[in-house]
Amino acid sequence: MLMQENVPLAPMTTLQVGGPARYFVQPNTIAEVSDAVNEASSRGWPLFVLGGGSNLVVADAGWPGMVLRVGIRGIEQRGENGKWLFDAGAGEEWDRFVAFAVERDCAGVECMSGIPGGVGGPPVQNVGAYGQEASETIENVQVLDLKDGQIRELRNPSCGFQYRTSIFNTSEKGRYIILRVTFALRTGGTPHVEYADLKKYFDGRTGVPSLLETREAVRQIRSRKAMLITPGDEDCRSAGSFFKNPVLTSNQYQDLQERAVGMKLEIPSYPALSAQHKVSAAWLVEHSGLAKGYTRGAVGISRKHALAIVNLGGATAADVVALKDEIQRGVSDSFGIELMPEPVFVGFE
Ligand SMILES: Cc1cc2nc3c(=O)[nH]c(=O)nc-3n(C[C@H](O)[C@H](O)[C@H](O)COP(=O)(O)OP(=O)(O)OC[C@H]3O[C@@H](n4cnc5c(N)ncnc54)[C@H](O)[C@@H]3O)c2cc1C
Repeated sequence: MLMQENVPLAPMTTLQVGGPARYFVQPNTIAEVSDAVNEASSRGWPLFVLGGGSNLVVADAGWPGMVLRVGIRGIEQRGENGKWLFDAGAGEEWDRFVAFAVERDCAGVECMSGIPGGVGGPPVQNVGAYGQEASETIENVQVLDLKDGQIRELRNPSCGFQYRTSIFNTSEKGRYIILRVTFALRTGGTPHVEYADLKKYFDGRTGVPSLLETREAVRQIRSRKAMLITPGDEDCRSAGSFFKNPVLTSNQYQDLQERAVGMKLEIPSYPALSAQHKVSAAWLVEHSGLAKGYTRGAVGISRKHALAIVNLGGATAADVVALKDEIQRGVSDSFGIELMPEPVFVGFE
């Protein structure tokens, strides 16, 4: 396994900002992952595990220790107790896995078509899109436990999945390297067409769309919002949605409603959000005075999506952070709500 030094990280991320990794390795097997971890630990290097780099802001100073990009590939399908299980390597491309499942007429991940990154990323922040979440189909996650060097299988309930969180980005952050993920999918299942945008796409159509048609619909809807990585589309140079939809208490919601009335605004009500006491972060941003297409030096808000911070070319991580701060300030001043960033900040102390 080749260990490289001073490797630029920006090209390995979708936002394309940040400095180099002091040391960089890409292990392709479990044994190589263990070797790399032992090397980092014996030399006292801090370790960062990189996936597809689609949910990251890397600091301009880069990462002072070892960056380990899991390269374990392969997707296998097997039947067990009447279920179809899919084992996918953490280094496999997520959208390739979704395509693989859909082609085999298996339902459960079709609405998450087009999400960039690897298979190891979705369990970390329990990714979700268009009414589906990764946690609904994850059966178990195979990990290397950095506490004792053992390989473990974590069953779904042990992963603590909630909205954009799991034990991997909260209570046990930094403890596990995800090696492989097992998904349980429904063969011959119908697609999940519940989300407003998707329903609208299929408006007027008779009959239930197929899984393949649903996958194509999701990819087209995402492409219009620059949420599908498309070569040449500058609005894709982002980390996706930069902020989570805030989950409010009843008091906070009431306060928001009063402020909205004072501003002659009506808070949009989306069934998918209201059910979980969530408010659209995009709506908050757009009504705090910062619109799609807003620019601040080399960064801006996507012209197609109010929640995406875009690198307009040559931006630094400091530029991204400055715009993030400005957006958070705007929303806080207007609505008294603290927006929480969704991407992971790497190398910021
Ligand atoms: C255009 C665009 C659209 C997006 N759309 C969505 C969306 O619809 N829904 C959504 O939820 N997200 C979305 N995202 C965010 C992102 O794609 C997902 O969070 C994705 O799953 C991150 O995976 P990754 O492999 O790129 O991880 P990275 O960005 O490389 O890493 C993210 C975090 O996961 C950790 N990690 C990654 N792999 C492993 C591993 N093998 N073991 C342990 N830890 C690991 C990293 O250490 C880091 O903390 C979007 C991003 C972009 C750029």
